[in-house]
Amino acid sequence: MAERTYDVMILGAGASGMMCAAQLNEKSDLSVVVIEGNEKAAKKLKVSGGGKCNITNVNVSASNYLGDEQLIESIFSQFSKEDLLLWLEHRGLKPVLRKEQYYFCPKSSEEIIEILKAASAKSDYKFGEEIISLSKEEHFVLKTKKRKYKAKNVVIATGGKSFGSLGASEIGLELAASLGHESISFLPALAGFTLQKNAFWMKELSGISFEAEVTVAGKTLYEDMLLTHKGLSGPVVLSASLYWSKGEISINFLPKNNLVDLLHNNRRLLSTALPLPKRFTQAFIVHLGIKDRACVDYKNDERALLVSAFHTYHLAPAGTYGFSKAEVCKGGVKTETLNSWTLESNILENLFFAGEVVDITGELGGYNFQWAFSSGVVAAQHIIENNKV
Ligand SMILES: Cc1cc2nc3c(=O)[nH]c(=O)nc-3n(C[C@H](O)[C@H](O)[C@H](O)COP(=O)(O)OP(=O)(O)OC[C@H]3O[C@@H](n4cnc5c(N)ncnc54)[C@H](O)[C@@H]3O)c2cc1C
Repeated sequence: MAERTYDVMILGAGASGMMCAAQLNEKSDLSVVVIEGNEKAAKKLKVSGGGKCNITNVNVSASNYLGDEQLIESIFSQFSKEDLLLWLEHRGLKPVLRKEQYYFCPKSSEEIIEILKAASAKSDYKFGEEIISLSKEEHFVLKTKKRKYKAKNVVIATGGKSFGSLGASEIGLELAASLGHESISFLPALAGFTLQKNAFWMKELSGISFEAEVTVAGKTLYEDMLLTHKGLSGPVVLSASLYWSKGEISINFLPKNNLVDLLHNNRRLLSTALPLPKRFTQAFIVHLGIKDRACVDYKNDERALLVSAFHTYHLAPAGTYGFSKAEVCKGGVKTETLNSWTLESNILENLFFAGEVVDITGELGGYNFQWAFSSGVVAAQHIIENNKV
C-alpha cells in the first residue's frame, strides 16, 4: 500500500508542536501528523512551573529574550500574550497570577495539556517514534527508527536538548543542518551557577534565600536568589544565566536599601541591622575580613568596603549546573535562515521552525512557553495561508 502523504508533519509533541497542530486543526482541514519520540505528549509542559506551568508573564517584550528582537516582535505581533490568554479562556482555562507577574495554571499543568490535546485531536499523533532524518524529494520524507512518513509541509518543533530525561535531543539542529541551515550550538540556560573557590563561603549557607539584583552583560535583573550546596540558584540567577557566557556578574544584596543610610547612627550589630538573613550577613563579613560590630563603630575604610561589597559584589561563576538541570537551551537554528514574519525557512520552501529549536530564548517567568505557543501559531497560520486554493 502506498504511504500516505500528509499536508503537514509536525516534529515534536511539546508546547510549540501541539499548539501548531491545534491551530491547524481549528482553522483548516489540512491533514496533520505529529511525530513524537516519547510515549506521550508534553512531558516538559507537565513538569513545568513546579507542576503548574508558568504559561506567560504580565510583561512580555523582546527585551525579555536573547535573540533577534525584530523577529520576536514580529511573531508576538501576530500572536501575543493577550491572544494566548484569550485562547485559553475560550477553552475554559483562566490562568492565575502569582507575584503580580507570572501566569500559572490554577491547579495543574494537566489543565493546559488537556486543552492542547482536545484542540489538536484531529491530528494523528505517532508516539514512540524516534526521529532519525529528514529529506526533501517530491515531498518531505521523515525517517524514524521504525518507519517513514511523508508530508508536503514540515514544522520542526523538537525543542532544546536540556532535560534529556524527558526525551529532549539535539535532533532539530541535526535535521536543520542536513537541509542547509546553520545553527548556534545549544548551551544550558536558566540554570544555577557553580562557584569558584573564592566564593565557596556561600555553599555553607545552602537554603538561604532573599531578593537580590544581578547585573550581567548590561542587563539588570531583580528577583529571589537561593544559595545552594552547589552554588547559586533562584529565579534571578536562572535568568542571569541566560545572558552569561563567561566572566563576572555583579550582585546587589541590598537592592531596596542604601547601606550608607542603614549604617548611619545605627547602634545595632551589623548582622541584625541589615534586612538580610543574619547567617548570610555574618558569613559574608567573615569572608570580607570584617568583624560583626555596632554599625556606628565601623571606620570609614570598613564602611567603604561594606558598601561596595553589599551593593556590587563581583562574582565570576565557574559554570552552570549544565544540561541536565537547565530549564532551557540558548542557541538554536539561526534566525537569519528564517523568514521573520512566517518562520518558514529561507532555504527550503514549506519547512518551518517553532519553539526552542530556534535561536530565541526567554528569561525565567513564562517567556519560553509564550515563545513556543506564539511561534507554533504563526507557523500554522502561514502554512494555512500557503495552502489556500
Ligand atoms: C523542568 C522545566 C521546567 C520548565 N518550566 C517552565 C515554565 O514554567 N515556563 C516556561 O515558560 N518554560 C518552562 N520551561 C521551558 C519550556 O518547557 C520549554 O521552553 C518549552 O517546552 C519549549 O517548547 P518546544 O515545543 O520548543 O519544545 P518541547 O516542549 O521540549 O517539545 C519538543 C518535543 O520534541 C520531542 N523530541 C525531541 N527529540 C526527538 C527525537 N529525536 N525524536 C522524536 N521526538 C523528539 C520531545 O520529546 C518533545 O516532546 C521549563 C523547562 C523545564 C525542563
